[in-house]
Amino acid sequence: MNNLEAAKQEVLKGCRLTIEKAFTVGTAGNISARVAGEELFVITPTTMDYAILTAEDLVVIDMEGKVVDGKYAPSIEHNLHRLIYLKRPDVNAVVHVHSTYATAYASIEGITVMPSIDIESINYLGGDVDRCPFAAPGSDELAAYTSDYLGKKAAVLMQNHGSTCVGKDMGTAITACEIVEKTCYSLFLINTMGKPIPFDAAFKEKAWNKYSNKFGVK
Ligand SMILES: [Zn+2]
Repeated sequence: MNNLEAAKQEVLKGCRLTIEKAFTVGTAGNISARVAGEELFVITPTTMDYAILTAEDLVVIDMEGKVVDGKYAPSIEHNLHRLIYLKRPDVNAVVHVHSTYATAYASIEGITVMPSIDIESINYLGGDVDRCPFAAPGSDELAAYTSDYLGKKAAVLMQNHGSTCVGKDMGTAITACEIVEKTCYSLFLINTMGKPIPFDAAFKEKAWNKYSNKFGVK
C-alpha cells in the first residue's frame, strides 16, 4: 500500500470509529490524515454520510489548500485541518466532532478551559484543554482560532460547536476525542456534586513532559 492509500485508509478508520463511538450526528464533523512524506492530506468530503464513504470519495489537498484529487468538494473545515498540519509537524491525523458532552461543555458561559481532572486527561491530552472563541463554520477565522488554541495539546474545544482532536495517527486522535468526551461528562457529574479537585501541579508538569516526549512536540 502506498502512502496516499494508507492515509485514505486512516480516514476511513476514523469514520468507522466516530460512528461506533457515537461522536457524530448526521454528517457533522470531518476527519483527515496526512500523507507521509508528501505535502498532502486526505479529508472527508462535505455533507456525506461516513457510513457509506469509500476511498474514492475522499479528497486530497495540498498544504497550500489546493484540491489535487477528488470528485466531491472537501469538508468546509479543510482549512482548519491544513493549518493544524502546518503548525504541528508531529500531527498525522485530525478529527473534528460535535459530540454531545464536549459540545455542551464548550457552550457554557464563562468557560475558557476544560481542566485536567484525571490521569488520562493529563497523559493523553497534555493537560488542560483550551476553548477557542466562536466563529462561523468553515471561516478562516475559525481555522485560525482552532489551530492557535490547540497549541501543543491533543485537543481543543470550540465554543458553541464541538471539539478538534489530533494524534500521531488516527487511533491516538480518536482516543483524544474519547478522553475529551469522558472528561466533559465527568465534569458534568462532578459539578452536580461539588467542585473538581485541582490536579497536583508537580504531577501535571511531569505528565506534560511524558506526553510531549511521546508525541515529540516539546
Ligand atoms: Zn463542525
